[in-house]
Amino acid sequence: MKKYYLCGHKQFSQFKPKQMSSKQLNCPSCGAPVELKYRFSKMAVCGYCGQSTHLTNENLEAKGDSTPLTDYGSKFSVGQEISLKGEKFEIVGRIRFTYPSGFWDEWFLINDKNPETEYWLQEDEGDYILFGRADDSGISFPDFTSTQVGSTQQYADEAVFVSEKNTAEIMGGEGELPFQVVKGEQANFIDGIVVGKGTPVSYEYLPKETLLYVGFEVQLDDISIRK
Ligand SMILES: [Zn+2]
Repeated sequence: MKKYYLCGHKQFSQFKPKQMSSKQLNCPSCGAPVELKYRFSKMAVCGYCGQSTHLTNENLEAKGDSTPLTDYGSKFSVGQEISLKGEKFEIVGRIRFTYPSGFWDEWFLINDKNPETEYWLQEDEGDYILFGRADDSGISFPDFTSTQVGSTQQYADEAVFVSEKNTAEIMGGEGELPFQVVKGEQANFIDGIVVGKGTPVSYEYLPKETLLYVGFEVQLDDISIRK
């Protein structure tokens, strides 16, 4: 899978639009059609019955419990098209994490000009960060157990100041997602800021994989809903 650094929205224009390839599958519980719009999606939650499924050998298999996420009045929902700094994104999934001091949502976005890259809009008590999956070749993930908040970690040729380390529980999801998780599983994460640049970096340690994301803060006013 080809991954890109998210270098800021100006870089989007370098990518040419590609044909979006979506997969049409059926929910193993109710038989309803389930469309996967992102080529690398690995799980989906049925929009009809709420069954959580994992994609295995091009088929959806029922995995784990399925409870709809409680709505809390976000302006976003799966299926919307949004504009962010002049770029068009479609919201194709959402995952909710819970931790001792509350919960937050991550909206999974695809961009029509760069359809092979994962984007996430993190929504946490009115704060928004747009993250893109980053190329982690040559990047060593900090050791989760020994890394301390306030320390500085090497990040390629730069340094990351560790601002948060926590363990969250996966509370549920909807739409499609590019990794496989089951409700109730735990995910560790380390968040930091590139020293001298202020770029948010997030190291995520999921049960089956580690993921690196790089982003930038956005204001709610920067995002408009197209439809
Ligand atoms: Zn279903």
